[in-house]
Amino acid sequence: MGFTFLTANRPINTSRLPPPPTFTEVRCDSKNCDFKEIRNFERGDYILKALNIHCPKCGSGLTIHGIYTIKEEKDQAPS
Ligand SMILES: [Zn+2]
Repeated sequence: MGFTFLTANRPINTSRLPPPPTFTEVRCDSKNCDFKEIRNFERGDYILKALNIHCPKCGSGLTIHGIYTIKEEKDQAPS
C-alpha cells in the first residue's frame, strides 16, 4: 500500500527533532542557459528572490526557483 507522508494539515510533535535540512534551488535567468544549482538554504531565501551573484556560465542573473525540505526517512528497510 502507498504511504503518503504529508502532514501539512496535521501538526505532529517535531519539537524534539532538529530542523530538517533545507535546500535552495537557484536557476539562471537566461532562457538560453540551463545552469542550475542546489545550495544550502540561507536565512532570508525565498522563491523568486533575485540573487546578487551571476551565472558562472553566461553571466546572467540568478533567481531562486525552489526551496526544498528533506524529510527525514525512517531507518527501517521495507521487508
Ligand atoms: Zn546562465
